[in-house]
Amino acid sequence: MIYLDHNATTPLAPAVIAAMLPVMSGVWANTSSQHGPGQEAKRRLAGARATVARLLGCKPAEVIFTSGATEANHLAVRGLLAGAPANRQRVLFGSVEHAGHLRLARALAAAGVQVDYLPVHPDGTLDLAAAQALIGPDVALVSLMAANNETGVLMPVADVAAWAHAAGAVMHVDATQFIGKQVFDFATCGADAVSLSAHKFQGPKGIGALLLRQGVPLLPQTLGSQERGRRGGTENLPGIVGLAAALEALGDITAQAKRIAALRDRLERGLQAALPDTHVWCQGAARLPGTSCLRFGQLSQEVVLQRLDRLQVAASSGAACSSGGSAPSHVLTAMGVSADEALATVRFSLGAGTTVEDVNYLLRELPPLLAPLLCEDLLSAP
Ligand code: PLP
Repeated sequence: MIYLDHNATTPLAPAVIAAMLPVMSGVWANTSSQHGPGQEAKRRLAGARATVARLLGCKPAEVIFTSGATEANHLAVRGLLAGAPANRQRVLFGSVEHAGHLRLARALAAAGVQVDYLPVHPDGTLDLAAAQALIGPDVALVSLMAANNETGVLMPVADVAAWAHAAGAVMHVDATQFIGKQVFDFATCGADAVSLSAHKFQGPKGIGALLLRQGVPLLPQTLGSQERGRRGGTENLPGIVGLAAALEALGDITAQAKRIAALRDRLERGLQAALPDTHVWCQGAARLPGTSCLRFGQLSQEVVLQRLDRLQVAASSGAACSSGGSAPSHVLTAMGVSADEALATVRFSLGAGTTVEDVNYLLRELPPLLAPLLCEDLLSAP
């Protein structure tokens, strides 16, 4: 099988499994226990926290381990909003945030919080003028993703953070798709809080973190003594050790990004040459190196994914959490794409395991399967 769905999740890196196994079998005591095994678990937790902090450019005390990015996003938005002054209760969300994060936005709005959305241009990039105009003195928090999971488009989080700070607001960044694929440094990224998830960069599922700048007020959403009182619950030590190991195993991110972007470009150009009806969304925008969001004429995503399945290629119709549904992608809809075109869109996301042979296989096998369908599609068009 050729796996081209790395934005949904990634396989565990061998170094991650090697780091986790001895912790699962031998370091299972509670980190809060006073006895020797508990103290050993606590030492391992501190070691993993120090590694994460070193590799992400923050202080160990700025790392709050969570069950993943969804929880980190909720903790950031609810916790920072609760910590904001009473005269600042408006929240701005990116309009193309992850589906789970937009559910939170809608839940806040339903509860009476004033929520507004930062629009995007037709090419998927953030509308900077509109964003700047929306950030006013009543804004408590701006929550914006660093990179979109469907199109791969990178968002100008440093600019938006500067405007948020100038207006007295705090800035949260969902960097779930960014970290592991692009070089990241918390100290200089401009954000006050950053969410991440290990399973997007060959770490285990069910573990992530919120990086929170020291001194930024946050009201915990799960009460308990762990994580300096900011997130209660016995820590998932094997997961945390796995997260740290996954970051360590990333190696030279710049070199890997260059390799993957070259493969992605080869795939897109090859498909466009073989099937001229291929339209790549956001092709001219700054994007994550491995993400390709495209449509073949008006061929429905079901038909294309079926053919890919026949070729033993795993791709997706968009975000994993919303694929399988028949609604057009909210990301493409926010870009002004029609429902028909959105429902014809598929996403390839390349990653560490993707090879030039994988891309060549797809370029050889897919066009002959789709070309006759595209002809039929053209003939049946009104
Ligand atoms: N945010 C973005 C941008 C994502 O792509 C995802 C996962 O698809 C999430 C948040 C949710 O991450 P998790 O699975 O760790 O809850």
